[in-house]
Amino acid sequence: MGATLDALHRLQTIEDALREVRRQIESKVRGVQAQKRRLARLEQEIAETDIQIRQAQSGADKLELDRKSHEAHIAKLRDALNQAKSNKEYAAVLTQLNIDKANALKLEDAVLAGLGKVDELKKRRQQLRESLETERARVAAAELETERESAGLKARLAQLEADREQAAEGIPPETLQAFERTCEHHDGEALAQVQRAHPKRSDYICGGCNMGLPLEIINALQSRDLVQQCPNCRRILYIDAPGGVSV
Ligand SMILES: [Zn+2]
Repeated sequence: MGATLDALHRLQTIEDALREVRRQIESKVRGVQAQKRRLARLEQEIAETDIQIRQAQSGADKLELDRKSHEAHIAKLRDALNQAKSNKEYAAVLTQLNIDKANALKLEDAVLAGLGKVDELKKRRQQLRESLETERARVAAAELETERESAGLKARLAQLEADREQAAEGIPPETLQAFERTCEHHDGEALAQVQRAHPKRSDYICGGCNMGLPLEIINALQSRDLVQQCPNCRRILYIDAPGGVSV
């Protein structure tokens, strides 16, 4: 393998490592972001539960007021019953009293149900608050961890960038440009190995895109240290096996 291709291989190895380190940094940042979104959702849920508690409480308060005014009315009816001057009046007041008592009982049930709902919501809010505390502690720990790991990864990134600069030194500028363009196009994969399409025939394909390669490219690769790009995908081609094409 020629010196330029050698250098390009070194560059490719560094490029792979660089992309991997960047991917790790991004994945850590995304992880913390996802946790923060969970935290925000919990806070939102707690705020919504607060509103529901206030509504349920005011509903129960209103029913209780209603119940109290019924009680007062019942007390008045009892007095009226004691002071009834005829059987007819007595019977009429008694009927009203029974209706009001039944209504008061229904209201009492409704008040209890309303207060039960308030309790239930408060319990739910308590659970949510506990989850929030747990989640907050987890986010804080994850942030600390990410910061620590990112510092390590960033140091590695800086080292790799310096390595890349050094590895690029011996490479002609136009070849370097071709490498970088191809990297951009193929997600960091600038090199492709030449492969035999068929074990018994001299048909060669690009290992990157699997398209056939003209024989002159193979000849040029075998005889000179010339950079050859796949006419289809533009990846820079190499023949790995010494003196021939790997199969
Ligand atoms: Zn190709």
